[in-house]
Amino acid sequence: MSDYLLDLAKNPYARQAIQTLGLPIPLPRSLRRAEGADRADALATLRVIVGGEGPLAPVASDALTQAGAAVSRVELQSEPGHGDGPHVLVFDASTLSQSSDLAQLHAFFHPRVRALKADGRVVVLGRPPAKCASPAAAAVQRALLGFVKSLGKELGRKASTANLLWVGEGAEARVAAPLRFFVSQRAAFVSGQALTLGKTARSEVHDLLAAPLAGKVALVTGAARGIGAAIATRLGEEGATLVLVDRPEGQAGMDALLRQFSGTSVAVDLLSEGAIEQVTQHVSDTYGGVDLLVNNAGVTRDRTLAKMSAQWWSLCLDVNLGAAMALTEALRPKLLRRDGRVVFISSIGGIAGNPGQTNYGASKAGLIGYAAALGTPLGRRGITVNCVAPGFIETAMTAAMPAVPREAGRRLNAVSQGGLPQDIADAVTFLCTPGALGVTGQTLRVCGLHVAGA
Ligand code: NAD
Repeated sequence: MSDYLLDLAKNPYARQAIQTLGLPIPLPRSLRRAEGADRADALATLRVIVGGEGPLAPVASDALTQAGAAVSRVELQSEPGHGDGPHVLVFDASTLSQSSDLAQLHAFFHPRVRALKADGRVVVLGRPPAKCASPAAAAVQRALLGFVKSLGKELGRKASTANLLWVGEGAEARVAAPLRFFVSQRAAFVSGQALTLGKTARSEVHDLLAAPLAGKVALVTGAARGIGAAIATRLGEEGATLVLVDRPEGQAGMDALLRQFSGTSVAVDLLSEGAIEQVTQHVSDTYGGVDLLVNNAGVTRDRTLAKMSAQWWSLCLDVNLGAAMALTEALRPKLLRRDGRVVFISSIGGIAGNPGQTNYGASKAGLIGYAAALGTPLGRRGITVNCVAPGFIETAMTAAMPAVPREAGRRLNAVSQGGLPQDIADAVTFLCTPGALGVTGQTLRVCGLHVAGA
């Protein structure tokens, strides 16, 4: 469904007329997104400034330089240059431990943030608060999240973002891929988010800049359309062989994907008798196992609790939570390969809740709990388990919403527009890459920093 404000903003005459007349219409700026497969020099056009005196600043500089960015390291006290502004500002705040140390954030960003280009990126690097040596240090590291959330809200009108990486001690070698993701155009709709990097998933880091999923088998549920089709497309673009699962009425959508990418499909309603066995048998017979599992199939059945039937309650819980867990449990003992990746598509509705969505909110929050609990046991085999929580995404599901909540859902974020299925697909694809080894048991919101949710 088209976004009339975004369409209007793309017309320079309309934009100028609205500005000249001083009309109170927020004209969102179109987000700049990456197209096609990952390239080794994906960051080649970016000017990056890295500041901060901690041990993560050189790690970040090396990672971004390797991906082609032009990186300058600066001293905290140095004057900002007068040349063209940077596209990316990275600050290592990992050594900050007293509240007075937070002045370093102001000292680094205040003189530079105005010159940050549109579609710019801010990334702050810190240490996980839960692992800090003192309560004061934990407070300071938690303060970084409040900082990036607030800055993300300031930067959103220029389609720029601010995010945080909390890097556990010993997980420094796992920084490169998450940092590149936050800095890239793949994360255009991700802002105000923190990822914690740790060593829960035990394996070697294989950080691939191009074709990161070559040779992998990826199973995607609900793949026939919308977000699922976008996820399948991105995984296919990065070299994965696809196993697509959707209801029989989704066969045409799956066939269209399989004309572009190699793979197979299973047309089955996941709630039907024997469906989980049918899918696992197909995986076992055809591929001997899977590397990537994306549980995306989902439905809404919205009514306030007082008006909701038991059937609607159960359908939503059974598809969104029950089938996703049943499929994961069926695959995990023997068919989910070492160094695998499991991603669940949750929702900001599972974080913040929505009136009329007690069933949906419960199901999506359940996925967050399941992923958090499964990360540690599967980590022993180098497997990561995470959720992506979309905000308002332009799909058939949201097109069917009544006009007023649809418009509110679309605008109430830092970039004043809905995301696209591609935004979710890009986040899922990042979490599926070998380089995302440090991220497990977590939930990444992809919501343009929506007002609803943490
Ligand atoms: P969609 O309705 O366009 O696609 C969902 C797909 O899941 C469909 O192809 C459908 O056939 C399939 N599916 C549903 N029940 C199934 C079953 N029993 N067996 C097999 N397949 C089944 O929805 P979408 O907007 O693309 O959403 C995809 C996921 O993202 C869902 O889990 C949804 O809850 C989540 N999500 C979407 C948004 C949004 O704004 N669109 C926001 C938050 C979360």
